[in-house]
Amino acid sequence: MYDVVVIGAGFAGLYSLYRFSQAGLRVIGFERGGDVGGVWYWNRYPGARCDCESNVYSFSFSHELQQEWSWSLRYSEQPEILRYLGHVADRFDLRRHIRFNSSVVAAHFDENGHHWRVVCSDGSSVRARFVVSAVGGISAVQHGQFPGIERFAGPVYHTAEWPHEGVQLAGRRVGIIGTGASGVQCAAAIAPEVRHLTVFQRTANWVFPVWNQPTDPDVERQVKEHYRELSRASLETAGGFPFELVDTPALSVSAEERSAVYERAWKRGGVMFMSQSFGDLLVNAEANETAADFVRGHIRRVVKDPAVAERLIPVDHPIGTKRPPMDDRYYETFNRDNVTLVDIRKAPIREFVPHGIRTADQTYELDVIILATGFDAITGGLTRIDIRGRGGESLADKWAQGARSYLGLGVAGFPNLFTITGPLSPSVLANMPIAIEQHVDWIAECLAFMRQHGHNTVEATEQAEAQWTDHSMQVAAGTLFPRANSWYHGSNVPGKPRAFGVYVGGFGNYKRRCDAEAREGYPGFAFDRAAGPASRRRIP
Ligand code: NAP
Repeated sequence: MYDVVVIGAGFAGLYSLYRFSQAGLRVIGFERGGDVGGVWYWNRYPGARCDCESNVYSFSFSHELQQEWSWSLRYSEQPEILRYLGHVADRFDLRRHIRFNSSVVAAHFDENGHHWRVVCSDGSSVRARFVVSAVGGISAVQHGQFPGIERFAGPVYHTAEWPHEGVQLAGRRVGIIGTGASGVQCAAAIAPEVRHLTVFQRTANWVFPVWNQPTDPDVERQVKEHYRELSRASLETAGGFPFELVDTPALSVSAEERSAVYERAWKRGGVMFMSQSFGDLLVNAEANETAADFVRGHIRRVVKDPAVAERLIPVDHPIGTKRPPMDDRYYETFNRDNVTLVDIRKAPIREFVPHGIRTADQTYELDVIILATGFDAITGGLTRIDIRGRGGESLADKWAQGARSYLGLGVAGFPNLFTITGPLSPSVLANMPIAIEQHVDWIAECLAFMRQHGHNTVEATEQAEAQWTDHSMQVAAGTLFPRANSWYHGSNVPGKPRAFGVYVGGFGNYKRRCDAEAREGYPGFAFDRAAGPASRRRIP
């Protein structure tokens, strides 16, 4: 019997295995990939790069690791992040805990024995007192369900299932479906090499530049000198980055000043465009419109064909309410002679045919098709596993009308199950490695508390879960996020109920809430429920 099963060996899985094994627990990790890396193992499409700055999109738990690792670029590309995670696994000897090429297909809680039985796709199973999900919020691939896909004569690749040996795209006619973060990066990267690129766009997105460049040695030196303070500061801020959001309202300054602010923030790049310009862009539609107007101007200046520029300008969602893709070359890509932008909102894809894609008004001849069609995000990684808690209740059934969770960490009725960066935690709206470390540390502390008090099981109470779920929905309802159709609400997955899946109240606030929960003896959790009545204490 293990103490902890960890599902997944990306950032979250690796740190879990490190932290729990250091605490003397018997751990085992299951990873469906052939090596560590998680999203960075799977998403090998050309142009794959992180949109957070490397020196903060990395672990902070080891000062030595921070000091010895050097990032070559301000925003790292996928191969370097994968190398980093491999280095972490080696440096802390974590691979010995992991079974690779092992997909967890089921996890059932045994109420009498107080343990989980975890089953893998090869039929093998283990028992463990705790299951810690490190499956990630953006890991369950969505292929898009295109009629006739099997009739297409050429290869079809999803960006998150990219062949490890690479794909020969030079000289070929390539179609790419999807203009989210993956599609945007991939399209910009392959355009110079392919014979022709056809970008099938259903929804135009606001794309920000990152101004990527080699790491500045002076910046690296300063960061390394102050890593401890930077990591500590990141735990307090709204985004999990070592800087606070600017809080000036956009309409409180003159139009000239506003333009100057946007210009400066645009030049800083990436998430800075919104976080370091004005504080009300995601809560005030009029303020948001000023930022949108700035970016519209940029698109119209860069894209030479005015009709194409208009097609690239989002019309259906406020800026920032869908995750903005980030790329330095995307808009310029549409000035190339070998690139065509197809509006499939206007003329939808009807079917794949042997030599291409037929839309409502035309057939596009293609040799290769790339699906950049995204993920069943936030919940899909968990609901695709047959997870059953008390009374055999299925997690997928429980979440059929939308995810319910206490702090995105625990689910009522599912004892001894923890979900790292789970639904209704800040997850994808925070700097992931920092958010992951905070969750894993919190779980490790809870397990130590249980050991100290002789508890066998822990689970979120129904009441705490209901309050947190309602609170998370209320916070989201006070923003502009509900005005977009996005994977944040599950609206990209046919049939998935629309429910906001992320806590948008800010990472720092969230962490303070988690700290209070632990400090006060876990009032929103019930211990040893099977041995006695459920905890009826109210959460404060
Ligand atoms: P995504 O944002 O969900 O984008 C999927 C795209 O495919 C959208 O443009 C979507 O259109 C389109 N699409 C989906 N199904 C379709 C269908 N049946 N027909 C036509 N179009 C369809 O997925 P993603 O680009 O893979 O990104 C997901 C998330 O992963 C990102 O938001 C980000 O958080 C993360 N990511 C990060 C990075 C990075 O850090 N650099 C890179 C890649 C991904 P609609 O918008 O109309 O639904």
